[in-house]
Amino acid sequence: MTHTIVPMKTIGLLGGMSTEATREYYLLINEGVNRIKGEHNVAELVVCSVNFQNIERFVRNGQWEEAGAYLAQKACQLESGGADYLFLATNTMHKVRDAIKAAISIPFVDIFEVTADAIRGRGLARVGMLGTYPVMTDAFYLEAYRDCGVRIMSPTEEEMREVYRIIFGEMCHHQFLPESRQYFLDVIRSLKKNGAEGVVLGCTEIKMLINQSDFPDSPIFDTTALHCEKAVGLCLGLEAV
Ligand code: GLU
Repeated sequence: MTHTIVPMKTIGLLGGMSTEATREYYLLINEGVNRIKGEHNVAELVVCSVNFQNIERFVRNGQWEEAGAYLAQKACQLESGGADYLFLATNTMHKVRDAIKAAISIPFVDIFEVTADAIRGRGLARVGMLGTYPVMTDAFYLEAYRDCGVRIMSPTEEEMREVYRIIFGEMCHHQFLPESRQYFLDVIRSLKKNGAEGVVLGCTEIKMLINQSDFPDSPIFDTTALHCEKAVGLCLGLEAV
């Protein structure tokens, strides 16, 4: 018996920001496709993994133009490699989404839109945010969510500095410490106490420390999981962008 190729769209994954997060994307997308299609089916993917040293420096120095040019060039490589959709596996670098979109002709699947859809789908409009310092403070991110009908509540200045330190200083170096997990849990509790209807894990590494089972009574929106779920649907042609 001859085998015919299983029809699938190819997901272009622009990652390495950090490698921890990209490993999660790779596993979640493949597992998601296999859950639906069974047997030996997994996703068709092209991955471009960048040097995170460049990204960390760009973010620290606020060199968004340079970051946009760097990532746009990598996105073009994914498109030439056969990607049908572009997934940027980091929240922070979505700040340069316009530079990336301008460089490619395949659809860019926006992590904020996917997350905001899930938030609105639960009937919520005001959620807390955990992420890198820019994601929690910069008007670009707050407005991106506001444009999608969601209001973001940020932690206190001191909490944001510590969350930022933990992300770059520990999680992006593959360290997931119990005391940092406790810190994140405490920040989420105070966001909820101050009126957050749910909390966004707005950094693609946080899922390694916190998940929904830590807060059974309050929705946790894991941007990595939601973005990957969308990739699975697109890969299998089950949904549109
Ligand atoms: N992965 C992180 C995020 O989702 C932070 C690393 C980066 O700056 O890209 O924002």
